[in-house]
Amino acid sequence: MRFLRSDIASMAGYVPGFQPPDGESFIKLNSNENPYPPSPAVVAAILAELGSDGATLRKYPSASSEKLRRIAGDLYGFDPSWVIMANGSDEVLNNLIRACAGEGEEIAYVHPSYSYYVTLAQVQGARVRTFGLTGAYRVADFPERYDGKIFFLTTPNAPFGFAFSTDYIEELANRCAGLLVADEAYVDFADENALELVRKCENVVVTRTLSKSYSLAGMRLGLAIARPEIIAALDKIRDHYNLDRLAQAACGAALLDQEYFRDCIRKVRETREWFSTQLRGLGWHVIPSQGNFVFAVTPDGNGRRVYEGLAQRKILVRHFTDPLLSSGLRITIGTREEMEATLTALKEIG
Ligand SMILES: *Cc1c(COP(=O)(O)O)cnc(C)c1O
Repeated sequence: MRFLRSDIASMAGYVPGFQPPDGESFIKLNSNENPYPPSPAVVAAILAELGSDGATLRKYPSASSEKLRRIAGDLYGFDPSWVIMANGSDEVLNNLIRACAGEGEEIAYVHPSYSYYVTLAQVQGARVRTFGLTGAYRVADFPERYDGKIFFLTTPNAPFGFAFSTDYIEELANRCAGLLVADEAYVDFADENALELVRKCENVVVTRTLSKSYSLAGMRLGLAIARPEIIAALDKIRDHYNLDRLAQAACGAALLDQEYFRDCIRKVRETREWFSTQLRGLGWHVIPSQGNFVFAVTPDGNGRRVYEGLAQRKILVRHFTDPLLSSGLRITIGTREEMEATLTALKEIG
């Protein structure tokens, strides 16, 4: 098509996980969503923002999401000038590439992790270098000095679920000439996080999302913590009204209800440990997880067969055809009842 950039016309595009139509009775364990609803304070805040006639929607939202930067800054121990809010963490990942990597310049990530970085880089005409993992879950062949513009480190890793230690992330950051972006989409379910490195190392950025740990995938809310100079650059690039009014109301209420949040996290972590033990009892190899999902290799090493058996029983999990991953499944941690039903199905499938 002659109207298109040739690289855009030929690029594959990202394929998100399958989302069945609302109302279908699947047990949905394929997108790492939270099985619990968001805090009741979130619903109340959205309704209050909407009012009885929706009149507030006539007016543009706060362009800077200033109040949310204060709330998030207080929560994580940073001045608001170190915080930017995003329309899903995907938006801020995109804008980091736009801010740092020009056409023909390089970014890197670890495979397997979040392959959306590749699509975002391709749109910018940036090149992508891929690092593998060692058996001990370190980055394979990472140079003493990595000269690319950004190194994206998904930690905890998806789909495997292990987390890199803060010491190791610091070591990697010190070997990067460009930014190290710690994509902490799952960190609220983990034991450690890399926030202290944002203060300690000039080149570390942390991204977070409210999609998983705050049960708000449907609202599209994320954020980044970084040095004010980086935040200022990201502010120039983003859509100026990137968070709508309802999203801003929801975000503030969610971040402020830490008691509800902690209770949800505790339940997911408890269910994760229980489910991992049960799966091991069925002969699966389960990678110890720091996320709200587990990656586990089936006893016969045929992930596809078990995926199909579960799908027939209306249980959706994630199977990847990549040879590194095809022997296993990535299973989101749902409620205890959902995981019991999943185990019953797995025993039937054998
Ligand atoms: C879910 C996820 C994201 C995207 O988060 P959104 O805030 O929903 O855009 C980014 N990175 C990783 C590793 C994720 O799993």
